[in-house]
Amino acid sequence: MLSRSRLTAREVAHHVAGGLFARVSEPRDRDVVHILDGEGCIACEAMEKAETRYFFWLLAENQSDLEVMRDFADRWGFCRRHARYLAERAEGPGLAHLYQFTCAHGLSRLEAAPTHAYRLGIVPGNTCPACLVLREVEQGIFGVLRRALGRADLRARYPVRQPLCFLHAQHFLAYAPRETIRTVIEVVDQLLVSNSLATRAPASELDMDRAATALAGRMALTAGTAPPRGLPIDDGVDPARCLSEVVTARRGCPVCYEMLRVEAERLAWLAQLRADVAVRTIEDLLPLCDTHLWAAMGALPTSIRAVTLSHALGAARAQMALALRPEAAQARRGHLRWLRAVQPVARLEALNFAREIAARSLYCPMRVRTQVAERRSLELLLTLTERSAFRSHYEEGTGLCMRHLAVALEQAASPAARQFLLSTQHAKLGLLNWELQEALRKQIWTSRFEHRGGDGEAWTRALMLFAGVVSFDLSSSTEPPPQSSMAGLGSTPT
Ligand SMILES: [Zn+2]
Ligand SMILES: [Zn+2]
Ligand SMILES: [Zn+2]
Ligand SMILES: [Zn+2]
Repeated sequence: MLSRSRLTAREVAHHVAGGLFARVSEPRDRDVVHILDGEGCIACEAMEKAETRYFFWLLAENQSDLEVMRDFADRWGFCRRHARYLAERAEGPGLAHLYQFTCAHGLSRLEAAPTHAYRLGIVPGNTCPACLVLREVEQGIFGVLRRALGRADLRARYPVRQPLCFLHAQHFLAYAPRETIRTVIEVVDQLLVSNSLATRAPASELDMDRAATALAGRMALTAGTAPPRGLPIDDGVDPARCLSEVVTARRGCPVCYEMLRVEAERLAWLAQLRADVAVRTIEDLLPLCDTHLWAAMGALPTSIRAVTLSHALGAARAQMALALRPEAAQARRGHLRWLRAVQPVARLEALNFAREIAARSLYCPMRVRTQVAERRSLELLLTLTERSAFRSHYEEGTGLCMRHLAVALEQAASPAARQFLLSTQHAKLGLLNWELQEALRKQIWTSRFEHRGGDGEAWTRALMLFAGVVSFDLSSSTEPPPQSSMAGLGSTPT
């Protein structure tokens, strides 16, 4: 248990990482020596363990700690990924305390009658508390690894051990000692090469899992990001009607819903392709970021998964090759005597250039599509709030999540639209606050005879309102997306 004084994410990270990096600035020799033990990505492994421990630390030990609750409310709770992670593990009931506090905090913020989102304290840099702790854990691991690379024996082991996945090697480049930058890039390139060979057809499921893990990190870290199965894929005939239906169906924030829907649509389209499809005809549609790669791994048939993976491995390798090129060219010119005087400066520049190219995230077409979907559906929603019929649907529905509410408040053209969004959100928060209080009241022993009504599910509504989690029909979750055409996907499931 940590002290009750002001908690920082770093302190929590040290606690949940099991003391692996007690002092980041000065890691213990024991940690440094053992950092390259085992196999697989050391950052993925540490973050995965820390994620589980963090939720135990929060929900079992500290959820009613005032400092913890305040920090949680200031950040408006979890991101969508972590909220879904908890919802899928049915950890929701444990969240009632935290979200009730956040509701009360949100009501007072809204009552201060802000006209702009920044006054609500919802800003893009305001990170989810779980994500913040994981970032600290990652940095802690990088601190230990950096120390390890300062020792000649461990530096020699680095290429054999291949301790970082592509994703974490990219992140580590910002911390790597200068003399190891080239090694880090070369080693991850080797990892990509060996996995490219393994995924060349015919690929086994295990080979593909390994390749995906080397490329996009551990699955647990990105689980819960795949669009829920059973999302309706609209026919595009009447977007305004579709949006009204989503709003009325109370399945979560309509903008978050649309973002997940376009992902589901893309994956369903990819899933129905023939196994011998020419890659060049679809490569502008294939996912490249870790989130969407894992979503594709879960949703696509084996043949298309192999196509997706080898395309992504190819893209990652091309980037590494580009990163290594300028420095190689520099080294070749190094023998020219007249260049010797400026060589150290030139080499430093080349290194920085290599690091900068290698650390760039791959341009993911699916991410671009979700960003467009987010912007377009928000615009549509703001336009529709001018219609009274839509306004009454909206009042009844889940409404926007707090993060999208903030964006909508910034974008709303008229004061009337802003006022409408604020007053409906206040009403929704007020009701949710009451329901969460009721759920908490019924948790105590003297209420054990009372009937648990809808308030028992209030935590699911809290996840929808604060994190934009989209509910889905579990009964349809076992059905794969239709293989033949998109025509059958137009109807909304009930
Ligand atoms: Zn990793
Ligand atoms: Zn998060
Ligand atoms: Zn949302
Ligand atoms: Zn993506």
